[in-house]
Amino acid sequence: MANGGDLMEKLVSLCKRRGFIFQSSEVYGGTGSVWDYGPLGVELKRNIKDAWWRSMVHERDDIEGLDAAILMHPRVWEASGHVAGFTDPLVECRNCHRRFRADNPDIRWTDQCPVCGTKEAFGEPRMFNLMFKTFMGAVESEAAVVYLRPETAQGIFVNFQNVLMSTRQRVPFGIAQIGKAFRNEITPGNFIFRTREFEQMEMQFFVEPGEDDEWFEYWKAKRLEWVHSLGIRPGKLRFQEHSPDELAHYAKKAYDIEYEFPFGWHEFEGIHNRTDFDLRRHQEFSGKKLEYVDPVNRDKRYIPYVVETSAGADRTTLVVLADAYREEELEGETRVVLGLDPRLAPLKVAVFPLVKKDGLPELAERIHHGFRKAAIPAFYDDSGSIGKRYRRQDEAGTPFAITVDGQTLEDQTVTIRHRDTLQQERVAVDRVVDFVRERIA
Ligand code: ATP
Repeated sequence: MANGGDLMEKLVSLCKRRGFIFQSSEVYGGTGSVWDYGPLGVELKRNIKDAWWRSMVHERDDIEGLDAAILMHPRVWEASGHVAGFTDPLVECRNCHRRFRADNPDIRWTDQCPVCGTKEAFGEPRMFNLMFKTFMGAVESEAAVVYLRPETAQGIFVNFQNVLMSTRQRVPFGIAQIGKAFRNEITPGNFIFRTREFEQMEMQFFVEPGEDDEWFEYWKAKRLEWVHSLGIRPGKLRFQEHSPDELAHYAKKAYDIEYEFPFGWHEFEGIHNRTDFDLRRHQEFSGKKLEYVDPVNRDKRYIPYVVETSAGADRTTLVVLADAYREEELEGETRVVLGLDPRLAPLKVAVFPLVKKDGLPELAERIHHGFRKAAIPAFYDDSGSIGKRYRRQDEAGTPFAITVDGQTLEDQTVTIRHRDTLQQERVAVDRVVDFVRERIA
């Protein structure tokens, strides 16, 4: 089996080859810190986001959805603490002027620039804000400075009263949203693990102070359950608690869900007790009351505590890809398979005519269109040997492959091959859509 670095290289190359993920602006040499999702990647990521939305919004009557704008009033980021506190200590090489995180052990202990090799390269660390700045308004010099949001959460906090009033929810309840966030990370890397533009899937759950610890435990368990439901191997997952010096400025308690990536154990989702920090600060900075008034006992008023679950859609996609990738020996050859859960797989089924004659392509095309009409993503392929066609779909993670052959003309049945077990079975042509539908729900 491939070692960590090898495995990442193979995964990146598979993602490009099969159209999952491309480097952004590749024709210009790429940007390095952002990535584009190709035809299969956009489906995979969308299926992950849909599974999240379904479990966090559609299946619950105590969580509402939201889609807040990326650009917000600049005061939001003063209130949230990001203008003053969202900074990393950086050091700059006195020779090549590259900047590095001062807490990187290689930098800290060697004092040598990893790029140009200069010794005693670094002075005192300087604080560097990770927010992207831009200008709102027609004339740059007069326009207001605004930020690209570094987290989606603040859009939820500033809409807390709007959602409360328009939905008549009562505490405890939550608001969920999926959207882009931007951080000018000093050291992006590891493919889509750390990028400067990424997507978050966040949910803020508003609770009565004093009930926050219990809700924290509830959400911690719920979120791991969801990750398990994606088919991720449990042995590759663990919780890691933030130590007091790692806690964010707003947090009372925080746990990460970590995955053992090919480059080590790292977080891809956090569960945070943000207390009443954000609502209290927005109340202070905006001058608007952000209290909750108990509808039964109107004398009972408080600023709710918030338990937050914050996952990266891209990092979760990397977890799903890394966990699904495997290599097997098959008939003296290496078979590369993405063993994606059928619900997440971008393509659900492929349809092949065994040969390009005797009316088999026409029949296969008809079956293929039957899937398209049923809104089941399907792929038609008649080029190359049948073995090659299977391999391409194994790499794409397609769970089922249908072959139309001579026997189909006689008895109206086709062969369905299962990606993981390689078992083949014959199924009646008019049953194939239901057969696949039942297995991808
Ligand atoms: P890290 O310590 O890795 O920088 P963080 O603790 O700053 O992450 P949070 O602010 O808790 O992360 O963000 C929640 C989630 O958003 C993370 O678990 C991750 O999945 C995702 N995320 C954060 N920063 C990035 C990034 N630069 N690229 C991709 N995903 C990210």
